[in-house]
Amino acid sequence: MVTMLPTPQLRPSYSAAAESVSHEQLTLADGFGRIATDLRVSLTDRCNLRCTYCMPAEGLDWMPGAEVLTDDEILRLIAIGVERLGIRTVRLTGGEPLLRKNLELLVADIAALSPAPVIALTTNGIGLAARADKLAAAGLDRINISLDTLDPQTFKQLTRRPRLDVVLAGVAAARAAGLHPVKINSVLLRGINDHEAFELLHWAMSEGVQLRFIEQMPLDPQHGWKRDEMITAAEIKQQLGQHVELIEDPKDALTRGSAPAELFRVAGTDYSVGIIASVTQPFCGACDRVRLTADGQIRNCLFARTESDLRTPLRSGASDAELAALWVAAVAGKKPGHGINDPSFLQPDRPMSAIGG
Ligand code: SAM
Repeated sequence: MVTMLPTPQLRPSYSAAAESVSHEQLTLADGFGRIATDLRVSLTDRCNLRCTYCMPAEGLDWMPGAEVLTDDEILRLIAIGVERLGIRTVRLTGGEPLLRKNLELLVADIAALSPAPVIALTTNGIGLAARADKLAAAGLDRINISLDTLDPQTFKQLTRRPRLDVVLAGVAAARAAGLHPVKINSVLLRGINDHEAFELLHWAMSEGVQLRFIEQMPLDPQHGWKRDEMITAAEIKQQLGQHVELIEDPKDALTRGSAPAELFRVAGTDYSVGIIASVTQPFCGACDRVRLTADGQIRNCLFARTESDLRTPLRSGASDAELAALWVAAVAGKKPGHGINDPSFLQPDRPMSAIGG
């Protein structure tokens, strides 16, 4: 069935009309009744790890510096999202967002917006030990730290860098800084770390951090993702089930909303582990996310094959109202789902690291 999407209309008189009403409130609605309120901002496409499923050993052709948005440009676009378009959560990601100079200042500036959004960070944790306090003081509310293994050798093999101890120090610092909850994102890879699901759970429970397993998605630059090699949510449940009883949380279905992780309570405890079945049980129907890349492109889906350029109009003098209107149009055309399971699926041209995970 072909579903016709409404064609977004940019009225020529829009910007003048919107300028006369200060901060006209719009929403980022798509043609399927979803409203984007969660903005993921990629601060850089660069990373200091080389996770085998994310980047080749030599890295990628990084975005030219002149194409990357400046701090002021990023803040201006986030402010438009928050003040005019109903964005309520701003997640800073990358590449590795801690590589961005002035991150603490950017967090403080975002925290000063009105209404103040929830500010979250997704990081590999390298360098976090020295910065967690400052980030929390600047107004960071939540943190997700990516950690796929607790074995130093496997960490080195998987990320091509011997930095497990540094990441663990980052996790400890985030907790000590009062960033609560600290969430841990883990991707399991067949034959590499897929035997570690319970070990990761045991560690997360003893550290008091919230573990989320994520199914590997087809977003690698090498285009090496294979469905039959992916560790599925069902396998993760089955593997954990050999050690603990997992109980579907009846409250989860009611309270999950747009949260991607399905939560399972570990029997006999009040701990819940999350499993994000992005591929085998897509949750696109509840998606409330929109993405801004480090070079100023709006992506209405992680898997979108088209983008909407905000950088060019931004640098050519467009008003806030004009940028807001372009953003509204970009989200209006969002597809109903990511389509990974369609026979015609094509991986997006940008890899995960250049989109913002
Ligand atoms: N550098 C930061 C970090 O490590 O958290 C932020 C960017 S990274 C791309 C964000 C998350 O995406 C990480 O948890 C990483 O494991 C995950 N990721 C990367 N490629 C993925 C893929 N193909 N499928 C699922 N998750 C992926």
